[in-house]
Amino acid sequence: MNVLVVNCGSSTVKYQLFAMDGEDTYRVLARGLVERIGISGSRLEHRVAEQVFTEAGTVPNHRVALEWIIKVLTTGETGVLKNVSEIQAVGHRVVHGGERFVDSVLIDEVVLKTIKECADLAPLHNPPNILGIEACQSLMPGVPQVAVFDTAFHGTIPEWAYIYAIPYEYYEKYRVRRYGFHGTSHRYVAERAAKMMGKNLEELKLITCHMGSGVSFAAVKGGKSIDTSMGFTPLEGLVMGTRSGDIDPAIIFFLMEKEGLSAKQVEEILNKRSGVLGISGVSSDTRDIEEAAPSNHRARLTLEIIAYRAKKYIGAYYAILGGLDGLVFTAGIGENSSFIRYSICKGLEHLGILIDEERNKARRKEAFLNSEESKVKIMLIPTNEELMIARDTWRIVQQKR
Ligand code: AMP
Repeated sequence: MNVLVVNCGSSTVKYQLFAMDGEDTYRVLARGLVERIGISGSRLEHRVAEQVFTEAGTVPNHRVALEWIIKVLTTGETGVLKNVSEIQAVGHRVVHGGERFVDSVLIDEVVLKTIKECADLAPLHNPPNILGIEACQSLMPGVPQVAVFDTAFHGTIPEWAYIYAIPYEYYEKYRVRRYGFHGTSHRYVAERAAKMMGKNLEELKLITCHMGSGVSFAAVKGGKSIDTSMGFTPLEGLVMGTRSGDIDPAIIFFLMEKEGLSAKQVEEILNKRSGVLGISGVSSDTRDIEEAAPSNHRARLTLEIIAYRAKKYIGAYYAILGGLDGLVFTAGIGENSSFIRYSICKGLEHLGILIDEERNKARRKEAFLNSEESKVKIMLIPTNEELMIARDTWRIVQQKR
């Protein structure tokens, strides 16, 4: 079964075409992205094995982007399929599934309506996801479409971990609660961790650290998320590229008053001008921060704060898990930065977390990073959300046949 995985952002569509023979037997036929949708200078980058093709074009909307993707997948030297009918299913990344979706689901009219209702909770993310679904429905009529939600894996978080200590009526009225994000990534690396450790996921206590431009940690007990650092929105939790993570909420009102800012302006500051960028004043990219650190106090401080906050979350999750078998690092920073991984683990020896400096040099491939004496296994696991979406799509479409 050929499964097209589609991830629509506000100005991008990322895609990957899988030939699935089973959940664990698959080939990636092609992958790529269309960027600058709705603005000038749109381009498509398409990869088939080691070959990279780039094309320029005019892409006013997501439907045109998907038409372009289907064209390159089915024609000329970029083509890997004879025609569009060889795409037998489409899997969509959908950011917010609200409380309604705790697993991936075949999209029908009712599901699409519910995803639209969830757009209120993710006004930046769900609308482009919906555009992608609607475009695929009209370009590939009758082809099953599956939605895989970023929030779904965290659907198992207990009430005491998802209710905020604000008047309960706001939960009842607006569903204000912790949802958590990056769920597909946390689920993927947790499953891989169990395989690497040669254990059943059901018997493991894991902390999964997704550290990219967005950062979230999850406490995973027996394969189920029991808590995660992102909350009602992706703003809560650890220090991120441009997001503040946890702050005292009173800072918002203080800044509004002192600087005469609107709620929207403070929201923008906390989402776009804070985090690594805000503290360092250098960049939102930790590569630049590591480079600047030897001669720049604020860059050094940024790295110290990243590690300090990460340690606090690991300690908290260790406590609620009642111990720890594995600590997993993934995404851009987690897969690449030996320095940040080392700074996080250093000082946690009393929890049985002992990192091995030599093994910690590994990058972008699955590896154990812990020393022999370490009670806790420390793992580097490159995330693969697209594969997870392809697997779920394959599974759900198989079940319906
Ligand atoms: P992601 O959102 O998973 O694509 O991660 C992107 C982020 O990973 C970048 O903004 C960088 O902060 C970080 N990153 C990628 N490569 C490296 C590296 N070699 N060293 C440190 N940070 C890195």
